[in-house]
Amino acid sequence: MDTHWMRRGRCKDMDPAIFFPNDGVGVQVAQRICAECPVRAECLDYALDNRVDHGVWGGASERERRRLLRQRRLAHVAAH
Ligand code: SF4
Repeated sequence: MDTHWMRRGRCKDMDPAIFFPNDGVGVQVAQRICAECPVRAECLDYALDNRVDHGVWGGASERERRRLLRQRRLAHVAAH
């Protein structure tokens, strides 16, 4: 699994707790950091591919990733 992109993430030297918020305000703080991250797409793909349940990854909250996974599944079903 290629995780080289992690070294280029904006969060590299930040407190990981920022990306595991307890409320909506915390989610927005993390999402603002992710919004300017050069490896946002890689990060989101990683979280989706590995079914990472917790935290903000690639600018997507836990709920947003669940929705994206549902959409992926539906797209997969439709294509086959
Ligand atoms: S998208 Fe967010 S969580 Fe992912 S590497 Fe970048 S800053 Fe970190």
